[in-house]
Amino acid sequence: MRSIDDDGELYDAGDSEELDEEFPLGDGTADGEATVSCPYCGEAVEITLDPGGGTHQEYVEDCEVCCQPWRVSVQYGIDGGAEVDVSVLGD
Ligand SMILES: [Zn+2]
Repeated sequence: MRSIDDDGELYDAGDSEELDEEFPLGDGTADGEATVSCPYCGEAVEITLDPGGGTHQEYVEDCEVCCQPWRVSVQYGIDGGAEVDVSVLGD
């Protein structure tokens, strides 16, 4: 199933129509950043994502506001949109 908007966004990378059949990670169409709410201090923090790291990623990152460690879970959808979940490390 395809879900291409009328603006043809997925074709902007341009060299091949195959892009919409394959996962677009690393082609510039996947989200490269996300804003999350820190589970410790509640601040909205913008984090940088690494689309080349795979469709599902889990790693530890420190909050840049309160320096507490997060468990970051990133799940990319087929359209390159990232679902980012941040939780308290060690539960
Ligand atoms: Zn924090």
